[in-house]
Amino acid sequence: MHEDILRVLIDEATIRRRVSEMAREIAAAYAETGDGITIVPLMTGSIIFVADLVRQLPFKLRIGLVTVSSYYGRSTTSQGATLQGVLPSLSGQNVLVVDDVLDSGVTLRLVQNVIRQANPRDLKTAVLLRKPGAGPLPEPVDFVGFDIPNEFVVGYGLDFDGLYRNLPQIAVLRPELLTKNAMAC
Ligand code: 5GP
Ligand code: MG
Repeated sequence: MHEDILRVLIDEATIRRRVSEMAREIAAAYAETGDGITIVPLMTGSIIFVADLVRQLPFKLRIGLVTVSSYYGRSTTSQGATLQGVLPSLSGQNVLVVDDVLDSGVTLRLVQNVIRQANPRDLKTAVLLRKPGAGPLPEPVDFVGFDIPNEFVVGYGLDFDGLYRNLPQIAVLRPELLTKNAMAC
């Protein structure tokens, strides 16, 4: 596995420190709210991040793991999403969506639209990584771990072609590996 890595972008200690800081930022944001928080991690890239994060949140919470499938409408250019998974009731809940990477923001906006239809009391979003592709559109995120350059990264839950999620660092793959296969999220 390590021979496929071009360079480490974020090492283990830096990830650990920042995730702990994010947990404090999130705990502070919910300090008044108390219980009734439902964390909705988007599969599969956010699993390691969310596992580290929730163990540092000092209040009662529920977790509903979901997979996002996005689609384009057949006769229109409209885009939507369905969430598959075990989603607890979100009505009246403070919902925190957690994703691995914010790139164009399309995924998160679709997920936010679906979740709003379930009438949560409040909806916030946390991402581990944000790329510059997020562009001029309104920011759909409340908590960001790291701003990174526009490079394809793997590790700490993030994959390429299903692999490298177990790498403890966030790293850039050797470019010849990326062109061999189609890009996988
Ligand atoms: P967006 O909809 O914001 O353009 O794309 C976000 C999704 O693309 C993320 O949830 C993630 O699955 C995938 N993605 C974007 N950049 C990367 C990357 O560098 N590495 C990996 N493994 N996935 C990425
Ligand atoms: Mg994703």
